[in-house]
Amino acid sequence: MTTTIPVWVQLAYLAAAVCFILALKGLSSPKTARRGNLLGAVAAAGATVVVFFQDPDGMDHVPLILVAIAIGTAAGFIGAYKVQMTQMPQLVALFNGVGGGAAALVALLELHEILENGDESTAIIKIATVFTIFVGAVSFAGSAITFAKLQELMTTRPVVFPGLPIAFGGSFVAAIAIAIVIVNDPNILLGVLLGILGLAIGVLLVLPVGGADVPIVISLLNAFTGLSVAAGGYVLGNTLLLVAGTLVGASGTILTLLMARAMGRSVANTMFGALKGGSTLGAGVASDRPVKSANPEDVAIMLNYAEKIIIVPGYGLAVAQAQHSLRELVEVLQERGIEVDYAIHPVAGRMPGHMNVLLAEAQVPYEQLIEMDEINSEFKNTDVVLVVGANDVVNPAAKTTPGAPIYGMPILNADEAHQVVFMKRSMRPGFAGIENELLFDPKTTLLFGDAKDTMGKLLNAVKAL
Ligand code: NDP
Repeated sequence: MTTTIPVWVQLAYLAAAVCFILALKGLSSPKTARRGNLLGAVAAAGATVVVFFQDPDGMDHVPLILVAIAIGTAAGFIGAYKVQMTQMPQLVALFNGVGGGAAALVALLELHEILENGDESTAIIKIATVFTIFVGAVSFAGSAITFAKLQELMTTRPVVFPGLPIAFGGSFVAAIAIAIVIVNDPNILLGVLLGILGLAIGVLLVLPVGGADVPIVISLLNAFTGLSVAAGGYVLGNTLLLVAGTLVGASGTILTLLMARAMGRSVANTMFGALKGGSTLGAGVASDRPVKSANPEDVAIMLNYAEKIIIVPGYGLAVAQAQHSLRELVEVLQERGIEVDYAIHPVAGRMPGHMNVLLAEAQVPYEQLIEMDEINSEFKNTDVVLVVGANDVVNPAAKTTPGAPIYGMPILNADEAHQVVFMKRSMRPGFAGIENELLFDPKTTLLFGDAKDTMGKLLNAVKAL
């Protein structure tokens, strides 16, 4: 509903919008990310306070609103404080979904208001309202499923069933028809039905997505939430929501495209590939095929006599928190004149930039982290590749097995090195749930155990040589 907004409020919103843009800029580099995050949070908190002073007389239910804010703040604070670094994508999915759900609820209330005011709103306002209800609901339900997949509350494998495309297509057509009816003749019950269809579509959209592709979907749903918040901002006549939503929508879209490119697939293939019969391969259970394993002392000798070593860090390094002893091991080897680099795959770990953040925390110099495209030609001249808690990002199935969930994703060419050592606890597969042939290759050795424990032993064994 457009009302006259005081100049000081407009200025405050403008300042907050500038802070959001600077926050995004800060988040683009690990060095400034903390400051960027803080700036965005302060701007969001400031903008929330402004709402209370903008038109105090026109604001109802203030105590209830304050209680809701207190509960939300406490839940967000405790959740973010307690969450492990490795669970960050789940947290992002959850926060993102809650944002979409809130936008949908606000739009439903706005639809109610449109009816109360005798339907005097313009068609554009009504279109923006139904858009927010629908897209916000899709984002909420889709994010809830990504959360369940990442938290392993349900299978991370693609879930497909006969009739899924029909259920999806049918719900989509029905949602559009209902949206058209609401725009012509607003009706709150139809608004609720539209929201329910949005929830169903969110679930059906994410179920067929395989675990390895979940990061792309989180980013896509994030863009959806941004768009629904922007449309909600338009409906409410709130410039800041419009700007913030547009920023989230645009950055989410760019991130989605970049991640899809890094994984070597289109967004459409990520979302709907399983419906065409792909992305369903893989056992997802520990293999009992024979492998060659060794103890830390054997691997220490292998490393000590190498001239060139590449470290491939992955999710397990973060789980074990072995980054500090890894950095120490690399320093000892470098002091002995051995060339050692870290190979960084764009989706190693469980969030974009996960390995960069983890290794930066362990004070690994940034120059030693080499991106996949740059280091991939080096593997064939490398004596030993030490794979620490990584699996999918070196799985040759991405090159050799059409239909595998990760087929088409560029991988680190660890299979081209002279020798490969995997540090992992068992023969369980990685996130994508598929076997890794490289584990059974004659040039591969496994060093079993929790990476923190085995890394400590390996470090001592290398020092003792
Ligand atoms: P993977 O999940 O493929 O493999 C992790 C490996 O770490 C497993 O082999 C596991 O084996 C081992 N591991 C786990 N805990 C420990 C531990 N304490 N000590 C030693 N080893 C351990 O990880 P990658 O980094 O190779 O690949 C990332 C995957 O996650 C990709 O499929 C990617 O698509 C997906 N993903 C990425 C996101 C991102 O944005 N980066 C977000 C969400 C998913 P074991 O259990 O035997 O120890």
